[in-house]
Amino acid sequence: MSTLWLVATPIGNLGDLAPRATEVLASVDLVCCEDTRRTGVLLRHAGIRAKRLTVCNDHTEHDRINEVRRVLDSGGDVAIVSDAGTPGISDPGERIVRSVVGTAHDVSAVPGPSAAIMALTISGLDATRFVFEGFLPRKGRDRSDRLSLIASEPRTVVVYEAPHRALRTLDDLRSACGSDRRVVITRELTKLHEEVVRGRLGEIDIGEPRGEYVFVVAGAADDEPADDATVEAALDAALSAGTSTRDAADQVAAATGRSRRLVYNLALAVKERRGE
Ligand code: SAM
Repeated sequence: MSTLWLVATPIGNLGDLAPRATEVLASVDLVCCEDTRRTGVLLRHAGIRAKRLTVCNDHTEHDRINEVRRVLDSGGDVAIVSDAGTPGISDPGERIVRSVVGTAHDVSAVPGPSAAIMALTISGLDATRFVFEGFLPRKGRDRSDRLSLIASEPRTVVVYEAPHRALRTLDDLRSACGSDRRVVITRELTKLHEEVVRGRLGEIDIGEPRGEYVFVVAGAADDEPADDATVEAALDAALSAGTSTRDAADQVAAATGRSRRLVYNLALAVKERRGE
């Protein structure tokens, strides 16, 4: 029996390529990728040479189905990779998977990096239940309808965005969800300029947008302010990192929804306990 593999690849840091991803990519007979040059660089990094590659992007995925099925039917294995992260997550893969599901062949994966999961798990927002929105529709009714759904969504919402649309999406999320909604905006995850900004939609500042973004928006039902113990733990971490009392209080107030004055007083208490 042959296998169609979905192989996750790094979202920035090549060190995140899993050993099993390398093994599978080295062993398959065909690799479907979005961009042969980009995947060629990854394969060379992994020490894999002379691999048969075929382009599979949003426009060609449908046409690749027959080629993939031919390789599988003749006893070979096939891997799908995207430019970055997990195939099928705002990337090609789903249509080929669907065409193989229900045949005699296996569908499996080498799991690994995905910007959505990394952003969600480092956000500090409720990750018990969440909604993945991917890219919002670009304009019109589709976009406004989706924004309305996000505004009333009780679970944490994860949104992908490109740099040239980041400010507009931030504005639209603010108009839809209100200034008070907590948000965590992550950028360039696993890369040199990785950045995580926490705050409220009304006050968060991401400067001049650069790089790739994931917005993690608190659910409408998750706007409970943090309790004192959580605030103190966050203050302790910020002070340990060398942040000034005032800046630590400002950051933690923005991230936790407690008032600046109260957080500042808690910061003084934390400093006293730390003997500072
Ligand atoms: N399949 C990928 C995954 O599993 O994350 C997503 C591919 S989608 C075409 C590209 C979007 O993912 C970017 O516009 C950005 O929103 C997000 N993304 C990918 N890599 C990222 C990174 N290193 N940092 C932040 N966001 C990233």
